[in-house]
Parts: sequence; C-alpha cells; structure tokens
Amino acid sequence: MKALLALIPLAIILTAARKMTTLTKPPQKARAIKYIAIHVTATQQNTTLAALWQGWKARGFTRAGYHYLVWPNGRVEQLIDEGLISNGVANYNTPTVNVAYVGGIITGKPGDYHDTRTPEQKIALLQIVRELKARYPGAIVQGHRDFPNVAKTCPNFNAKAEYANV
Ligand SMILES: [Zn+2]
Repeated sequence: MKALLALIPLAIILTAARKMTTLTKPPQKARAIKYIAIHVTATQQNTTLAALWQGWKARGFTRAGYHYLVWPNGRVEQLIDEGLISNGVANYNTPTVNVAYVGGIITGKPGDYHDTRTPEQKIALLQIVRELKARYPGAIVQGHRDFPNVAKTCPNFNAKAEYANV
C-alpha cells in the first residue's frame, strides 16, 4: 500500500514533464491547415533572430517567415501563433504552418546549400511534425521545394520522404 501511494505522485510528475516537453502550442484561433511546410533559414548556423528579422523586413514582411524556428541546439522558438499566417511559401501561406531549422549554409558561396541539421534539430523537427500532424491530421508534410513552381532547394533534404509515415 505504501509503495502504491508513493507511485501516484511520480505518475503526476511524469505527466507534467510530458506536457512541459511539448514543442508547439495550439493556435489561439483555429485556422484551416492543409500543409506543414519544412524550411531551412538558408543562413549560417550561428545567425541571430535579429539577423533573420532584417532579412524578412528587407522583403517587406511584417510577420515572421516561420511559425517555429529550431536552433542548432534543438531549442524551439515560436515566432507567431499558429492561428496567424506567416511568410514561408509564396502563394501557399494561408493554409500552411511553416517550420524552419536554422542553418543550411556553410561557406556562403553561391550554390552552397546543405542539410546542416544537427542531431538535436532532427529530434526537435520530428517532434514538431508529430505534434502538428496530431493537431492537423489531414495536413500534408513537405519541404518548401515540394510546393508547385518553387525553384529552391529549401529545406535541403527530402522532408516529404522523411516524414511520410508520421
Ligand atoms: Zn523555405
């Protein structure tokens, strides 16, 4: 009996811990989502959020390019509520949640596109995709480059294949 009682708080703690490790947040206001788009920031891994914002502002964006950013250490940063539209895929942003990992460029020379995902980024991306698929079961998970008429390599790996069974 004593042992059983001791187990109850542990179960509560474990449940709380699981909740705390959720990487995404449900939208404040629901939005119809058809796509979960995976991106790379096409920057060096050590870029900053301020530098990313400079790039978005230069392109006339008043909102972030992505809903979620995954930093090289696996830290996930939400930039915009999922209920709002971000600027990830031209002409497809209205039904899309945009997720990007930071990196993709090593030397900065033209054509320097790489899958620079760290193990931590791979783990976080997979978890984000799982959470978003649970929230939007009908959504298609694909890379930016998999949208029609996109002449980009983003996200520099085959996201469609990698997350096909999520
Ligand atoms: Zn992209």
